[in-house]
Amino acid sequence: MCPYSDECNFSYRCFCPHSKKCIRCEDWSCDTCRLHRLDGAGLVDLVRRLPATRLFLDFDQTLCSSKSGFPPVPGKHRLQEDVAELLRCAQRAGENEQGEGGGGWERSLRVSIVSRNPHKKEIMEMLQRRGIGDRVEVCCVKVERTTKVGKIADDMRGEERGAVAVYADDDVRELIDPTLTACSGLHRVIFSFRELTS
Ligand SMILES: [Zn+2]
Ligand SMILES: [Zn+2]
Repeated sequence: MCPYSDECNFSYRCFCPHSKKCIRCEDWSCDTCRLHRLDGAGLVDLVRRLPATRLFLDFDQTLCSSKSGFPPVPGKHRLQEDVAELLRCAQRAGENEQGEGGGGWERSLRVSIVSRNPHKKEIMEMLQRRGIGDRVEVCCVKVERTTKVGKIADDMRGEERGAVAVYADDDVRELIDPTLTACSGLHRVIFSFRELTS
């Protein structure tokens, strides 16, 4: 049981039985739970370490400093730079696919933004402006009449057996959804836009 918050015990269920720590409150990560508490640099390390071939990213307060529901505004909002650089790497590796060598594992990393934010055009413009191109899929779930959980679960069903994926979101709700918890290759990250000190 989490000693810090009743919310954790009754709603979030993010207590790690292996270490007896609350992943949400104690900035803990567990490979066996496939649940992690990470900032941008930590997320990039995880994707590289696994390595993952699929990355699902929330937009507001995860990839971008924008607040939920509002269009991102260049100059006012910024991208999380560690994660943005990872997406640029994946973009470049993909573009070099036909060319000579290079790219490494990033070549096979496919990225989807999954967001309740409906401003797809503004999100895509923000990504383009920051050197992240059209290899990153932007799925505004409300516009496409699905949910984050529905979209991720659908995509995971289409992945090869044994595929490893990562889903990062600052909001715990979808991360602890039983449908996603049951996806055996999916690691979930309770994302912190600000840098974690531990
Ligand atoms: Zn655990
Ligand atoms: Zn807790």
